[in-house]
Amino acid sequence: MAENKLLKAAILIVSDTAAQDPSSDKAGAALAATLAAEGSSNWETPATKIVPDNVLDIQLAIRNWSDGEQFFNLIITTGGTGFAVKDNTPEAVSPLIHRHAPGLVHGMLAASLQVTPFAMMARPVAGVRNKTLILTLPGSPKGAKENLEAVIKLLPHACIQAAGANSRSIHAGGVKKLEAQAGVSSSGAAHSDHHHHHHDHSHSHSHSHSHGHGHSHGHVIPKAHTSPSERPQSNDPSAGPTRRYRNSPYPMLSVDEALKAISEKTPDPTIIEVPVTVDLVGSVLAEDVYAGEAVPAYRASIVDGYALIAPESPSTGISSKGVFPVASVSHAQASSMPPPLEPGSIARITTGAPLPPNANAVVMVEDTVLASSTPDGTEEATVEILTADIKPGENVREPGSDVSLGSKILQKGNLITAVGGEIGLLASTGTKTVKVYKKPCVGVLSTGDELVEYNDPKKLEGGQIRDSNRPSLISCLKAWGFDAVDLGIARDTPVGQIEQSLRGALRGVRSGSNKPVDVIITTGGVSMGELDLLKPTIERSLGGTIHFGRVSMKPGKPTTFATVPFKPATASSDASAQQERETKLIFSLPGNPASALVTLNLFVLPSLHKLSGMGQTPLADTVPKPQTALGLPSVSALLTHAIPLDPKRTEYHRAIVVSSRDDGRLYATSTGLGGPGAGAGQRSSRVGSLAGANALLVLKPGNGKLEKGQFVEALMMGSILGGE
Ligand code: AMP
Ligand code: MG
Repeated sequence: MAENKLLKAAILIVSDTAAQDPSSDKAGAALAATLAAEGSSNWETPATKIVPDNVLDIQLAIRNWSDGEQFFNLIITTGGTGFAVKDNTPEAVSPLIHRHAPGLVHGMLAASLQVTPFAMMARPVAGVRNKTLILTLPGSPKGAKENLEAVIKLLPHACIQAAGANSRSIHAGGVKKLEAQAGVSSSGAAHSDHHHHHHDHSHSHSHSHSHGHGHSHGHVIPKAHTSPSERPQSNDPSAGPTRRYRNSPYPMLSVDEALKAISEKTPDPTIIEVPVTVDLVGSVLAEDVYAGEAVPAYRASIVDGYALIAPESPSTGISSKGVFPVASVSHAQASSMPPPLEPGSIARITTGAPLPPNANAVVMVEDTVLASSTPDGTEEATVEILTADIKPGENVREPGSDVSLGSKILQKGNLITAVGGEIGLLASTGTKTVKVYKKPCVGVLSTGDELVEYNDPKKLEGGQIRDSNRPSLISCLKAWGFDAVDLGIARDTPVGQIEQSLRGALRGVRSGSNKPVDVIITTGGVSMGELDLLKPTIERSLGGTIHFGRVSMKPGKPTTFATVPFKPATASSDASAQQERETKLIFSLPGNPASALVTLNLFVLPSLHKLSGMGQTPLADTVPKPQTALGLPSVSALLTHAIPLDPKRTEYHRAIVVSSRDDGRLYATSTGLGGPGAGAGQRSSRVGSLAGANALLVLKPGNGKLEKGQFVEALMMGSILGGE
């Protein structure tokens, strides 16, 4: 069964001449013949197509064969790889490649060089896009054939590995069989004059294959972007719209893969020592904290009443009951200790006040009556205690009984919450400073020529749009407790403004704030327009690394995440000190308002949480255990209506989650479904879909719809609302 699954190849003839007159093509026919000569056991009869020397036509043809329903294992192009002005096949193909294969390029060039030194003038590229291997061959039929023959034995192996999971169903015979078919098993080499070379190859191939067993080779990994200086993936803005890519060269990551990349690339939190103030709320402790003072520091009454000397044991026959002279008064606000209590007398005392020395218990005022007043009638002379049951220690807080001196009051990883318990503990024990993780400072930049300040009094003209992203993102960040710096608007033109704004923010020289930011959030400019400059600016101007530029989600597909190395300005005092490079993060969110807010919640928040040291220690031991994951908390809710699913992308649907008092369950209702007459529903430009929403429903891709009454995962952006 496995045997008759043939590999599919496609040949793209790139030639202005052949595009005019298909009968003039010789190279395509030569390549088809070369594939056929390999025997019918490997290759199906190839598909062919002729396009002119035009970047867009070339890219379109390749994408049809590598991205769509119709999948090909191998695409070979012929033509357009030389030095002539019209030769632009490598320029068209290179950005489409997700994983480059310089070894194949080397193999082809080495073979051609044996034939002619003119091979040096070929500019071939090779690599894998999605699960398809792409090779660019020269346009001369002879050269194309020679190049293909140089690598053809390896192609089935390479294609199968590139296709990933399919490999095992196609080739049940394992590594040995693959090697045998490639003619590169340790005993046999395909080309005697390259014996050594091929031998090395076969070795490393079989090695990596055995290690990779069980892994999906077709899995797209973000690693492809680690050396952007060598091969920037972004558009070169100076090349103009005709040479811009028609399709994003960034691999499409799943949301989970994107979150993993963010978690891996977000630096570990840094520790600072800060005074204990209410500004600590939202910070995470970076140390265990021990009580520097006992609470209470003295023996204190927990009621209003009378301090007395209670009999040690009832067997002595002495009772607390009786009429006693009131010897002194102890108030909670007293700055000095009351005088010692003489046996047989009592002292009036207020809640929290220190007990007089010798006193060992307090009787509540409710258990007493006034017996006699002083002659002027203003003070109690004697008071009768109505109960005989007062025991030593009753109504008394011993020193350190709430918090003993030196005991651990809070631990590393604890969040200082707005509930107030943690601040209260720190305050009551006289803790002066604590070590916490530094909360990141976040800059927010809007980009686009069409933007005007949201509060600009002028009427909008032409294609102008009010900048709504900045205020909405900044308010969200502030509500989360982060320091947000308004970086203003950067225009797309003149080119360079965005770079200037980003650099200024990193250095902290923006007007109104000289605080360097740790994280920059931009919105806009990450779509596929020629003025979408964020990616090129980050890669080409700032030397940053883009870890992902596309995510399979709705809304938010063009979400981009990058790190930028940054050398802080050297302070004059430690000029000799080796200044370490810091890593700054850039989240370039889509410009559409709903997309920007959704991706802020989904991607930026977990990173800010990690930078703030959250998610390290689990919260208190409760059942069920609280989540310690970073980002929005997740709950399950019941849908109050059906929601259609997207077949491909995970959708984040804005919704209201309400807790029912009737049955104790959570119910989720969309803030707007799409469809005719439904006010554009969840369309990504519709910021209104977020007004009133407190949750994002996570709708995994699927066919049909989720029905009313089904459970759905809800990520809580706001508090759960109380329902009827
Ligand atoms: P872009 O990614 O720059 O192509 O922007 C996508 C869409 O979002 C366009 O319709 C922009 O006008 C819009 N947009 C971009 N930035 C903002 C912003 N700061 N406030 C509101 N809308 C924006
Ligand atoms: Mg724009």
